[in-house]
Amino acid sequence: NTFDQMKERGKLVIGTEASYRPFEYHDENDEIIGFDIDIAKAIAEELNLELEIKDIDFDGLIPSLKTGKFDMVIAAMTITEARKKAVSFSSPYFDASQVIAVVSSNNEIKGVADLKGKKVGVQLGTTGDLEVSEMSGIEVTRYEKIPQAFIDLKNGRIDAVVNDMPVTATYVREREGVKIIGESFTEEYYGIAFRKNDNKLEEEINNALKNIKDKGIYDEIYAKWFN
Ligand code: GLN
Repeated sequence: NTFDQMKERGKLVIGTEASYRPFEYHDENDEIIGFDIDIAKAIAEELNLELEIKDIDFDGLIPSLKTGKFDMVIAAMTITEARKKAVSFSSPYFDASQVIAVVSSNNEIKGVADLKGKKVGVQLGTTGDLEVSEMSGIEVTRYEKIPQAFIDLKNGRIDAVVNDMPVTATYVREREGVKIIGESFTEEYYGIAFRKNDNKLEEEINNALKNIKDKGIYDEIYAKWFN
């Protein structure tokens, strides 16, 4: 089983998609940092393991997990019923939701209903993609990485971006000319994804998560990235 293999090699290998600030992204020294990365480091420390990070496109994470490219996925990934058919999830470790972002001068789009007939950008294979794809009359552009969607929003190639609130909020806070409109329109929880039947790993990771919460490490990491 994966957990014993990890123990033997002394290393936890995670898969992520590192262009999703503040959860996982490359800093100016090209190191991958972020909230999820700190959580993964804390878990690795709990288990006395080194941490190795593999960075691939979001829509490849579940397929690559299944073929054994890494031990687990931590990538601001929402726990969904559809994904649960392919993978198992840890207990939820973060609350998120979808929001709409538009350029500041746009007063026409005020909520989900106004997206009809508009060009909307999402990240391929995400819950934002899923939500928008279910609405009718929207011209959807799917990006491998969310920063490109924001670039196109500012260029006027698309009218709106639908994406996770904490990530869009971080983007909007740091740049002029883009705003979040309306309320979040989904309820989502992030989980760490495992191959199905990796029960021992799942149990150990849930324990480690609980321990880092009990010791106050989770709160420290939260404060570092969100306060
Ligand atoms: N939370 C969203 C999802 O799971 C987006 C994740 C991401 O882009 N890293 O689909």
